[in-house]
Amino acid sequence: MSIKKLFGTNGVRGLVNKELTVEMSIKIGAAIGTFFGKKKNLLLGYDARTSGPMFAEAVTSGLTATGCNVYFAGLASTPAIQYAVKNHKMDGGIIISASHNPPEYNGIKTIWSDGIETSHEQESEIEDIYFNNKIVYAAWDKLGDIRKIQGINEEYKDAIKKHVNIDRIATKKFHIVVDAANSVGGISLPPLLREIGCKCTTINANIDGTFPGRLPEPRPESLGPLSATVKAIGADMGVAFDGDADRSIFTDSEGTVYWGDKTFAIVIKQYLIKNPGAKIVTPVSSSSLIKDIVETYNGELVWTKVGSVTVSQKMKELNAKLGGEENGGIFYGPHQAVRDGAMTTALLLDIMAETGKTLAQLVAEQPQYFIEKGKINCSNEKKEKLQQEIYKQVKEENVSTIDGVKIWFKDDSAILIRASGTEPVFRLYAEAKNQEKALNLIEEYSAKLEKILTTI
Ligand code: MG
Repeated sequence: MSIKKLFGTNGVRGLVNKELTVEMSIKIGAAIGTFFGKKKNLLLGYDARTSGPMFAEAVTSGLTATGCNVYFAGLASTPAIQYAVKNHKMDGGIIISASHNPPEYNGIKTIWSDGIETSHEQESEIEDIYFNNKIVYAAWDKLGDIRKIQGINEEYKDAIKKHVNIDRIATKKFHIVVDAANSVGGISLPPLLREIGCKCTTINANIDGTFPGRLPEPRPESLGPLSATVKAIGADMGVAFDGDADRSIFTDSEGTVYWGDKTFAIVIKQYLIKNPGAKIVTPVSSSSLIKDIVETYNGELVWTKVGSVTVSQKMKELNAKLGGEENGGIFYGPHQAVRDGAMTTALLLDIMAETGKTLAQLVAEQPQYFIEKGKINCSNEKKEKLQQEIYKQVKEENVSTIDGVKIWFKDDSAILIRASGTEPVFRLYAEAKNQEKALNLIEEYSAKLEKILTTI
């Protein structure tokens, strides 16, 4: 029996007109509308993708057919839409975006009334409605309305300003370069920066769903133009967004790109100094740097499975106020417990203003780890057995099986062994205080896995 799925780790995603079609989107809209129930008010927005308006109309048709009212917010970042759902006391929301995926993709994500993505259990309910013909259409005189809602980007910007010391930031006259990936990051951040006294230079800031500047995933190798611009004009910092501007990756004034673990660690340290004992939520894929900083500053670390929905849901469950991922997603609970690129930028500027340190100086204070990656082939059928067997061999160590097998060794090195969700491979991520040790870990555990594979 095959298990039918619509939702992946982060909403419904697919290639436009191939894996995700207009016909499907109407039905998905109707399934989501049935899930929320008649006469519910749902806010809907999209990012810059060429297929955004098309899918927005299709999903809206499905929603109104089941009696839901749709408040159309237009072009906005994912965190701005999430904030608006909460701020306008909507019953929920829908975001048309494929986040960091290439331009030929799009997706549909559902938001609960608190602005947080619906849980995987709630997504299963929507899938059940979709696949088992449980859609409940409304009578002709009970159809939903379509209304426009304006100004959500402004409200979002004003909300962020309440969580940082804008006067102190203004005294520093920071110059920031924003690489908006030709999408909604160009709407959310530059106006905020200018209002809080920063000079803002933009690249890739024209809205263009073909993403001509770079792919929507902010990878170090695609941020050369950002680094070069920051350095050439003597800016203080660079920031690059993904396609829906919930993730942000930063460069220092020399153009050096820092992966998300480093900026998350800066935010954690400052947060724990002010809130000792606070819970910090992060997936097991995060660096030991996070563990070190949380322990040093007396926080309580909560590990989760990989995926932003899981982090948000765990924060909600524990009423934790700070979460983060290595990919540049920081969840700042006092604002909203979701990834938020503009909020993250404001937090970093606040910390730079408060400490008087540059981003490079803040990173230089952190313990340094070297990361190595590896992978071995493993058929999907053997994945579970392989994971069980490797766990048997290492269970005496300090180990977690929240997601894959993660082992922390006494010398501060660590390895995560995890089955890929999409390919017939196991991935290995090792880190240590020196490169050689990290490489050795990859070699040692690849060999162990290969050996087990010959026996199962
Ligand atoms: Mg995203």
